[in-house]
Amino acid sequence: MGKNLYVDTRGNCKQAVPFTQAVIDGLAHGGGLYVPQTVPTLSLEQIVALAEKPYAQRAATIYKAFDVDIPEETIDDLMEKAYGNRFDDEAIGPITSLDDSTHVLELWHGPTSAFKDMALQCLPWFFSASAQLLRDRGELDHEFLILVATSGDTGKAALEGFCDVPGVSIGVTYPHGGVSDIQFKQMATQAGSNVHVWGVRGNFDDCQTGVKNVFSDDEFAKKLLDEYSIALSSANSINWGRLLPQVVYYVSAYSQLVHDGKIKAGDLIDVCVPTGNFGNILAAWYAKQAGTPIDMLLCASNENRVLTDFINTGTYDISDRPFVLTPSPSMDILVSSNLERQLFELTGRNAQAITNWMDDLREKRAFRIDQETFARIRETFISDSVDSATCLETIKAAFDEHNYLLDPHTAVAYRVAQNLRGANPVLIASTAHWAKFGINVYRALHGIAPGEALPDEVAALSGCELNELIARETNASPIPQGLAQLDSKPIRFADVIDAGAESIRKAALEFLDELSAERA
Ligand SMILES: *Cc1c(COP(=O)(O)O)cnc(C)c1O
Repeated sequence: MGKNLYVDTRGNCKQAVPFTQAVIDGLAHGGGLYVPQTVPTLSLEQIVALAEKPYAQRAATIYKAFDVDIPEETIDDLMEKAYGNRFDDEAIGPITSLDDSTHVLELWHGPTSAFKDMALQCLPWFFSASAQLLRDRGELDHEFLILVATSGDTGKAALEGFCDVPGVSIGVTYPHGGVSDIQFKQMATQAGSNVHVWGVRGNFDDCQTGVKNVFSDDEFAKKLLDEYSIALSSANSINWGRLLPQVVYYVSAYSQLVHDGKIKAGDLIDVCVPTGNFGNILAAWYAKQAGTPIDMLLCASNENRVLTDFINTGTYDISDRPFVLTPSPSMDILVSSNLERQLFELTGRNAQAITNWMDDLREKRAFRIDQETFARIRETFISDSVDSATCLETIKAAFDEHNYLLDPHTAVAYRVAQNLRGANPVLIASTAHWAKFGINVYRALHGIAPGEALPDEVAALSGCELNELIARETNASPIPQGLAQLDSKPIRFADVIDAGAESIRKAALEFLDELSAERA
């Protein structure tokens, strides 16, 4: 058990580390990202047989195949905690087929109705268990405070994931007044004895800069360790512990399609993913690498089309690229961190090449890959982008045709799949429930342009009321409980603090003092 070690993409770590250490570290020392030394190969029989098991056991099977250094019974137990009963569909990631060859993998049945739950319901348990194993071996003697800066969605999924997980507490900062009514209420009503939420006077950048500065403050780190026996951690989307749960649902979905008679065992499928940080589509690549019969990976971008241009030209260039706010905010990203892992794999694990390209990106805001690596990208990836007006038109068109409501992120992928698909059946990753993005879904259904004001009487509704209106108008399936009941839940966290490391440090200490007082 646990012989599969993790190396870093920039070759800066002298020693490869086990899964548990990679999860605790997040980022590798020296700035690279961890990837597994070996990717297991599952046989077609093994993949197809997954469909006989509940999702938690499918996930445990994949973790064991990746040979993580955690006892097998513990893996089973943690997967049961992650995928046992916190999702509103027993299938965890059910598939809705819009026609014979268009299959939508719904990744939003978790507690926050966004696909981040698929990883963030799982990672915290493995984070906590990894820390415990390191403590048992005498390699660690403290607990953790997870600090997150969020523009809205990740914060809630992280809160819900780490809520009441032992040995970890979590604090989230978001821009005060800069998130939707639904997003604010999701975070402000968060349950759990180890959680805190702060609105920050400023925008998302101010939150992120403040949190980053807290992370790089050595004096503060020492104080936390000495006085509270706590280390800071971010558990963000570059953590391998967030990627591996995503590999699971692609393998699982393939087995489900075979089980349901929608494809034959061995048939190739294409996978289309609405992409931001490149984590979700990279997970699909690892699933393919592990033996899942996946042919092409369709990378769907919104107007921030840096990845589309990269996949079409081999040049990643943000030197003169505006950052555009779109109806799919979780894809509004210019630096896609997980692309580094993909390039490492496609260069045959050439850490020197990666280091050079990442230096170019930092210094020149652009890098260009070599012809051979570009050819390898073109073997597997194709990409297209969808502008904001087309995104909203697509929500309306898909609803008219299939009586199925897409959220704006999924709509981008749906449109790209229409534009690029070939002969294979397509699996579209659906990354959010529409009711998380009610305002733009309303615009789409009523022919209101992106960014244009809603009619006064609609603008006056709370997020929940707007969703109820849309549900009535469309006869759409019920709004998930976690979203439907937000107006009636008590607000627990209404603190607003100044931007800047100083006030975030102060707030974090107050939170830790409260926790110690409660435990005493
Ligand atoms: C995070 C997110 C994405 C982008 O996923 P990546 O793994 O960053 O590419 C797409 N859609 C939604 C709804 C998300 O929350």
